[in-house]
Amino acid sequence: MKITIIGGSIGGLCAGIALIERGFDVDIYERSANELKDRGAGLVIQPDMMDYLIEAGVSTKEIFGVLAAQRQVLDDNGNPSLIYPNDTVFTSWNYLWKQLRNAFPSSKYHQGYELTSIRNEEGQVWASFKNGRVIQADLLIGADGVNSAVRAHLFPEIHPRYAGYIAYRGLISESELSAAEIDFFSDKFSIYPYANSHLLCYTIPGPGGELGEGKRILNWVWFQNKSLQQLKDLLTDKNGTVHEFSLPAGYLSDKNLSELRARADAELPEILRKRVYQTKAPFIQAIMDMEVPKMFIRQVAILGDAAFLVRPHTASGSAKAYRDAITLAMAIQDVGNLQNALEGWNNQQIVHARALAIHGTQLALRSQLGQ
Ligand SMILES: Cc1cc2nc3c(=O)[nH]c(=O)nc-3n(C[C@H](O)[C@H](O)[C@H](O)COP(=O)(O)OP(=O)(O)OC[C@H]3O[C@@H](n4cnc5c(N)ncnc54)[C@H](O)[C@@H]3O)c2cc1C
Repeated sequence: MKITIIGGSIGGLCAGIALIERGFDVDIYERSANELKDRGAGLVIQPDMMDYLIEAGVSTKEIFGVLAAQRQVLDDNGNPSLIYPNDTVFTSWNYLWKQLRNAFPSSKYHQGYELTSIRNEEGQVWASFKNGRVIQADLLIGADGVNSAVRAHLFPEIHPRYAGYIAYRGLISESELSAAEIDFFSDKFSIYPYANSHLLCYTIPGPGGELGEGKRILNWVWFQNKSLQQLKDLLTDKNGTVHEFSLPAGYLSDKNLSELRARADAELPEILRKRVYQTKAPFIQAIMDMEVPKMFIRQVAILGDAAFLVRPHTASGSAKAYRDAITLAMAIQDVGNLQNALEGWNNQQIVHARALAIHGTQLALRSQLGQ
């Protein structure tokens, strides 16, 4: 069976690796002409994803990420008011993507291919790209993220909805921290919860996957409620360009950087306030909701962020993409008839995605974030 995957990020690569492993003829078509990077910062590796990637030979437990063995809740003075065991492993988006990319054959990973339209009929599907190429396949998988062109083909009426709050994010090299500060954050998942907000801090591998103390990166995430009008202002970068869902590092306007710092002065304990000031290029992700009624129609399926957006409090963006991908590969292998396989896969994954979406909204409401 010839399978075309649109999007070569976490979801697309996981699907590609799992399908090639099962003997399918798979090609990935990625819009970006360059290596993907700086899509995000730290992320949680869920245990099932880690187990699979180790079993599939993509990674090893030793290099996967940084274990936060304790969770510490900070009080208004920045002192731990509660410490308890934790087993979350944190990695970085870039580091995870590189490991997945290395596990997928370069000859089957095509860059500079932006999908523009799909024709889906008579048991076949044709994908047309901006560069003029047209590719035929038996199955097309859309792993093309929040702005999915594949979703637009299947469900043109469905668009992401702003959830009413944003995540400010920052990365600081451990080399910029004092020994006492490294010790304070090291191997811990730190949380500062307060009215209508909270800030998280955790350590992730260095830019090249370094895991040694002093060479890693401290990652912070600060959730803040913002109106739609405020969102538009925040996503207007220092050059006046308006971004849709996120603002990349280095593009925050001077006015908004000053406001971020003023808010840190007013609301954060010193140990966290200093981190906000120390961050050279904070960036922003708007929190969005989105769900599709079905994850396939005929020979076209969608997975990961293209199909469902879940709130970041579930720590599941990448893990959901991975699970959609691996279960799709298993279904196609196990069930002889493609349509039956897709139906079974859809019925199973859509229940999980809806449950995750509801759970994420409940976690946000509990923290007085968004609607
Ligand atoms: C700016 C940003 C920061 C993020 N940070 C984090 C984080 O820190 N932690 C976390 O857990 N999750 C994060 N996420 C979410 C996380 O990246 C996704 O949940 C995860 O990568 C799985 O997504 P995916 O593979 O389904 O889609 P994505 O990662 O969004 O990938 C979609 C891919 O499709 C490509 N594409 C899009 N349109 C086309 C087209 N028409 N033709 C061909 N290719 C196309 C894109 O270039 C991209 O490579 C972030 C997402 C974004 C956008």
